[in-house]
Amino acid sequence: MSVNYAAGLSAYADKECCGLPEIFDSPEELHQKVKELADMIRKASYVVVHTGAGISTSCGIPDFRGPNGVWTLEEKGLNPKFDTTFETARPSATHMGLLQLQRVGILKFLVSQNVDGLHVRSGFPRDYLAELHGNMFVEECTKCGKQYVRDDVVGTMGLKPTGRLCHVPKVRGLRACRGKLTDTILDWEDALPDKDLTLAHEACRKADLAITLGTSLQIKPSGNLPLLTKRKGGKLVIVNLQPTKHDRYGDLRIHGYVDEVMTQLMQHLGLEIPVWSGPPTKLESKEEAGDHPIDCNGDSGSAHIKKEEKDDCIEEKPHLPKRAKVEATIT
Ligand SMILES: [Zn+2]
Repeated sequence: MSVNYAAGLSAYADKECCGLPEIFDSPEELHQKVKELADMIRKASYVVVHTGAGISTSCGIPDFRGPNGVWTLEEKGLNPKFDTTFETARPSATHMGLLQLQRVGILKFLVSQNVDGLHVRSGFPRDYLAELHGNMFVEECTKCGKQYVRDDVVGTMGLKPTGRLCHVPKVRGLRACRGKLTDTILDWEDALPDKDLTLAHEACRKADLAITLGTSLQIKPSGNLPLLTKRKGGKLVIVNLQPTKHDRYGDLRIHGYVDEVMTQLMQHLGLEIPVWSGPPTKLESKEEAGDHPIDCNGDSGSAHIKKEEKDDCIEEKPHLPKRAKVEATIT
């Protein structure tokens, strides 16, 4: 499947703020800021990281509003070209660094807008991860809520039936559930997954340090979640090349490539970035890889639709031409 997955969603006209100029801190400034970030992490007791499409561009997966983003090019009448697929994309230094930060107990929770599945494929445990806009590799039973992590993308988007049926045995093993499976990729009008959103909210309230990586924070509610941490007295660090919607709330703003920032950060913390050895094949927490189901206690039928509003742009436009709903990953 093309990594330009937005092309598979409904038409979406309101793509403001594409192609904003990127800002680069000087090498000295970057070094100093990352050192400051490392100090903030050492002092924090509950760190939550928020990731957007900007952390996957080095994996060959385009963002939306970056200089070479899908929508930035589209505005110029250009067709983006891709040389990777979701299946062949490899987790970046940032994905692997986050995995290590979780393993050593520094990173308490990860909130991602990305649907590329790279956090899960890096081995990041799903108990500590909210994938607010879905995952290309996950399908979910509409009847019992079981999730299946596949080795390949599931093939549909917009919570549509994948054509497969749930094979979880019922109690006593009399017969399988046989519920229809759907993908987990949200279209613009779809509700965010309740469980992931609830976990993300809880973590953001508990956190005393929120770090955003590669997201312009333009979309509600994902982009506003870091502000929950701020409101509770926590600190906010924003790492992004382009300006973000919430720059003014950032206690520290770092303008550098996220992989470079992560690499320097891990050095400051005295931690190694693990080498990726392929998608996980063994059970991690309540997740199973391959064709095994995950009990997510989910209700994929989405009992109620949360109206998500695409927020106004960085320039705070007073009126929006359209009140759009959930946007997938943005940068
Ligand atoms: Zn089922």
